[in-house]
Amino acid sequence: MQFRYFQFPEKFAIWTDSPASCDFCGEAKRCFDGAPFLGSEPITAICGECLLAGKLRDRDTYACEGDIVELQQQLQALKPEKSAKTVSRKAGEVTDDLERTTPPIFTHQTWYWPCDGGDYCTFIGYGSKALYNHLAPDGDGIDLFLNSLYYTVEDLSDVDELWEESLPELPVTTLAAAKQLVTLFYVFVSQKKDKVVTLWDRR
Ligand SMILES: [Zn+2]
Repeated sequence: MQFRYFQFPEKFAIWTDSPASCDFCGEAKRCFDGAPFLGSEPITAICGECLLAGKLRDRDTYACEGDIVELQQQLQALKPEKSAKTVSRKAGEVTDDLERTTPPIFTHQTWYWPCDGGDYCTFIGYGSKALYNHLAPDGDGIDLFLNSLYYTVEDLSDVDELWEESLPELPVTTLAAAKQLVTLFYVFVSQKKDKVVTLWDRR
């Protein structure tokens, strides 16, 4: 099951504890828990196939909120010749894809899903020193971590403090492990795979 904006749903998505009846196809199977979805039309469970097929598209049910203002600016910067109206329509379409065909992420607070280069980034997991060291071409994760902070958290971040005191040493490999952490780092990569983007929050 391949989601554009969520790389490892098996490990990090919020699944129902046991097979559930999908609200849309009615089949009893492993489903995403409906509780974390937002909007005025709650669901109890949705299977991956129905989510990918866009069954949420015409409903007020969504997994997250995209940083659409920033996305619009990026798209306009990439295509200055396009009208604001065209750019705004494109941003709306991309945001609808993100919000309605992606499983929700477990987070402590709410924030806007980051974008880079005119598209939303893909969530690859929860941050640790090990993950940043692994992602850094020279193996030195702290620089990569520093440069990855999304503009919305840049000013709030004391990089040395976060690196020394809040980032776990070892990889966070399961959602259950992530839930234990007071400070969580959400690691994304751009669609071009040329940029790592981090958001963080606290319980
Ligand atoms: Zn289904």
